[in-house]
Amino acid sequence: MNKQDNKEYTIYESIDKTILIKFKEGYSCVIIPSKNNKITLCLSSQIGCPIGCTFCHTKQFIRNLTYNELINQIETSKKIIENKKITSIVFMGMGEPMLNLENVIKTINYANKILNISYKHITLSTIGINLEKLKHKKFNIAISLHNPFEEQRKKIIPNSIKITSILEHVKELSNQNKNGVMISYTLIKSLNDSKKHLDKLLSYDWPKNTNFNIIEFNNKNNLEKSEKSKLELFKNEIIKKGYKCFIREKRGYDISAACGMLNYE
Ligand code: SF4
Repeated sequence: MNKQDNKEYTIYESIDKTILIKFKEGYSCVIIPSKNNKITLCLSSQIGCPIGCTFCHTKQFIRNLTYNELINQIETSKKIIENKKITSIVFMGMGEPMLNLENVIKTINYANKILNISYKHITLSTIGINLEKLKHKKFNIAISLHNPFEEQRKKIIPNSIKITSILEHVKELSNQNKNGVMISYTLIKSLNDSKKHLDKLLSYDWPKNTNFNIIEFNNKNNLEKSEKSKLELFKNEIIKKGYKCFIREKRGYDISAACGMLNYE
């Protein structure tokens, strides 16, 4: 790991070349370079998070980020990558973007208009709050499901709407984007990775263009990641059912920048 410090932020570089920028005010973003010179920027929308998912490393909520702080994540990242092109933006960092929607939408429009990033390369990820506000939006929508059983899901993601309601929204939202809605599912050992969970997940009539993202869990307290074979099993069965499905590549684990690991000091 490489570390560089200045007055405004500290930069950490992972062995896999992922870069974490931690701003002194407490927010952070992640630059994820991949093959073919593609660069994804993962932005935070809040400092801390009020949702309190039990499996997430993010600590308690401090405040929403201002529009300027959102833009600062983009502009600082651009400087660090020496103005190489950012090819996609995801709101998958610290915080729940639907709770800071006005500033998030303004930032998405900035990325589209000023940085020339197509809406199809911009993704907002939510646990499923105020989904009706996403009607007619051109960017991608990802919904973190993580458990197909209502009661079990409520225990790990407090205050989310019902899965049946999520499904209704997914059906509506999938018509506005040919790539459909992304359903994210982090596999946690003995918590949501059984055959029963897989069958239940596939028992919902998700629209055919729904795409699933299976995520390897980053251990927290007494929760552990599932075996690799379980991730493969979920992926293969979902594909067999006719959906697109990918296992998300783990990036920046050694600098605590992988999925669900962002935090403030
Ligand atoms: S997973 Fe997302 S919504 Fe849940 S606590 Fe972490 S940052 Fe908040």
